[in-house]
Amino acid sequence: MRLYKKINQIKKSIQKYKRERKIIGFVPTMGYLHKGHLSLIKIARKKADILVVSIFVNPTQFGPGEDFSRYPRNMERDLGLLEKEDVDMVFYPAIKEMYSEGFETFVEVKELSRVMCGKSRPDHFRGVTTVVLKLFNIVEPDFAVFGKKDFQQAVIIKRMVKDLNLPIRIFTGPIIREPDGLAMSSRNTYLNQTERKNATVLFKSLKWAKNAYNNGVIDSKKIIQKMKKMIKNSGGQIDYVVAVDKNSLKPVRTLKKGTLIAVAVYFGKTRLIDNILL
Ligand code: AMP
Repeated sequence: MRLYKKINQIKKSIQKYKRERKIIGFVPTMGYLHKGHLSLIKIARKKADILVVSIFVNPTQFGPGEDFSRYPRNMERDLGLLEKEDVDMVFYPAIKEMYSEGFETFVEVKELSRVMCGKSRPDHFRGVTTVVLKLFNIVEPDFAVFGKKDFQQAVIIKRMVKDLNLPIRIFTGPIIREPDGLAMSSRNTYLNQTERKNATVLFKSLKWAKNAYNNGVIDSKKIIQKMKKMIKNSGGQIDYVVAVDKNSLKPVRTLKKGTLIAVAVYFGKTRLIDNILL
């Protein structure tokens, strides 16, 4: 496994592999790796000759007052995990390397970035798309893998790839959960014991919704109302509970196959997201 901090150095190695016609797979992360990340890496490992993972806590996707400075980091542990997954190249640039002085170019997927998480985090997705496009330009992968945990993010990245004619295939991996159902997230470390216990309501409410749908309830209003009640009763402060089309992310009145039910909820100061596909 080779480590790269500098863009020109990783680009040089990538160019060599490109000349050898190697298939380059890529998994971008913000580090503090857990089994969710590792599941995407395993998917990519199977398809790639050369597997690249990036670790970069991207400042432009955090809003003012968000958790950028206290986002958990543990490079040593992460590198150990990546080594075990047989990763070929790790790219972990400094902020200055990615955003040099005078940086002022952003790429924005407009409407899709304004709904759901975009409402309470207005500049978040333009930070994500900008950094992902930069990483794509640096790594030049044949494909990249993203998690369904951040479903909206994956939809937005696919839109960007299509709109900008990037020669990159996007795959998505399933949500990996703790034994009690809580979706794995680097941010789960922020939760105190009570919040951690309360947060299990997210998956419970999503499973309840899917079950209700399977039993014939198709009125999204009814389902959302009941989910909100469940979540509030468990101490969650709701940012949103929505039922949307999985491609357009537009709200639907009637649930059907392919409807995404998604939630964003605060437990204390920690904002968690989760979703389920009908
Ligand atoms: P992050 O480090 O939070 O930026 O996440 C990096 C990638 O891992 C993104 O594509 C996420 O969607 C994905 N990911 C994070 N948590 C999970 C999870 N619990 N299951 C599957 N994928 C995940």
